[in-house]
Amino acid sequence: MARIVVVGGSLGGLFAANVLHRDGHDVTVLEKARGSMDGRGAGIVSHDALEAALGRAGLRTDASLGVAVPGRVMLRSDGAIDTLLDMPQVLTSWSRLYHLLLAAFPAERYVQGAMVTQFVDGPDGVEVQADCGGVPRRWEGDLLAASDGIRSTVRQRCFPDAQPRYAGYVAWRGVCEESVLSQHTLETLFPRFGFCMTDSEQIIGYPVAGPRNDLTPGRRAYNFVWYRPVPMGEALARLMTDADGVHHPQGVPPNRVSWRHIAHARQDAARLLAPQFAEVIEKTAQPFFQPIYDLQSERLCAGRVALMGDAAFVARPHIGMGVTKAAEDAVALAGALREYGATLEALRAYERLRRPAGQLAVARARWLGGYMEQAASSGEPAAPVASAAQRAHQTLHETAIDLGRYGHLSAFKTTNA
Ligand SMILES: Cc1cc2nc3c(=O)[nH]c(=O)nc-3n(C[C@H](O)[C@H](O)[C@H](O)COP(=O)(O)OP(=O)(O)OC[C@H]3O[C@@H](n4cnc5c(N)ncnc54)[C@H](O)[C@@H]3O)c2cc1C
Repeated sequence: MARIVVVGGSLGGLFAANVLHRDGHDVTVLEKARGSMDGRGAGIVSHDALEAALGRAGLRTDASLGVAVPGRVMLRSDGAIDTLLDMPQVLTSWSRLYHLLLAAFPAERYVQGAMVTQFVDGPDGVEVQADCGGVPRRWEGDLLAASDGIRSTVRQRCFPDAQPRYAGYVAWRGVCEESVLSQHTLETLFPRFGFCMTDSEQIIGYPVAGPRNDLTPGRRAYNFVWYRPVPMGEALARLMTDADGVHHPQGVPPNRVSWRHIAHARQDAARLLAPQFAEVIEKTAQPFFQPIYDLQSERLCAGRVALMGDAAFVARPHIGMGVTKAAEDAVALAGALREYGATLEALRAYERLRRPAGQLAVARARWLGGYMEQAASSGEPAAPVASAAQRAHQTLHETAIDLGRYGHLSAFKTTNA
């Protein structure tokens, strides 16, 4: 069995750690953050491939995974229901998945406060160096699995040309308590996975568990993601500057988003979106935003190093695949190690399987968000290649189709290797 050092202890790293640990490998996770990582993420769309990966990690899921919805609803900007689609789904959350995965992994092997600074990829193994609060420490392994996210230190050392590319729009996000919503919104929006589209913007939302994973009706919450074009340059720089004038080029921490930007966004929501969504945004205590990026690495392995999750590919969130893609990377890597042992051939087999899956995910998500990207670059609503109604229909159905399609890429098949 191999000694494996996993860099990054978020969902992707924890999936890898659990699956590899379960296969008998000697796994250590190095995570730079200290203390609770709760509050980092919000809602996560689950589907069959994610549940299969949880099973592979030895975790049995039940109704406590999240809120079950019967399908989707597209609202018009006046709040009327445009389309209903039957599509049962479970909406879980970052924190639910994090705690499930964390509890299943040996606590002494999950090292927090360890910021990996460099590594040496030698003929007999890797040596990983980390800064642990000013104290240098090192770990040795047969393989390094880099699950350190979109700005991966490991990727930047192996493949410095692979850089995130801003998509031209941001996602405003937030979670609103169920108990504060009006009866009308609770009836027409809350029970389903909701959508509303304008010529150049899009909002989606769905119910999630409330604090401490409370699924009791009345104590749940509503999670929204509102995509808005913001041209690169001055407009983006202004948005990325907090109320005290501090610029945050890598992302504004949620509690530092300027109240002026929030006030402005709320006004726009009331003007542009279905009133149900405007109400959710108005009543969300702390909306925040994230710029949307594409990232693809041409290579997923270099010597004894494998890239996984967002370190390898970032697909825009329209296909709701980020966590599942990371989980499938973990399953594929473990499958390759079962097949070839802890060898360079195993990592190459992993790359052959997961590179096409990542490329497909990035391309599909880019296509779904293309009209917002176009609006950002031209300053105009997208050219009407499809009417708003056609596009709404497409969005509602295409994301549904994707979830099924990507599931087929999940299993590790040596015939693809
Ligand atoms: C608006 C939005 C909505 C989304 N919605 C969904 C959704 O509904 N469903 C879904 O599946 N996905 C969604 N995603 C995507 C999802 O959040 C990510 O794809 C997923 O979290 C990838 O996880 P990861 O573990 O690869 O990376 P990350 O979660 O980024 O984790 C990287 C970890 O590495 C650590 N790290 C970084 N550098 C170092 C270092 N040098 N040393 C040690 N540790 C380090 C970081 O602290 C972090 O914990 C969404 C994303 C966005 C932006």
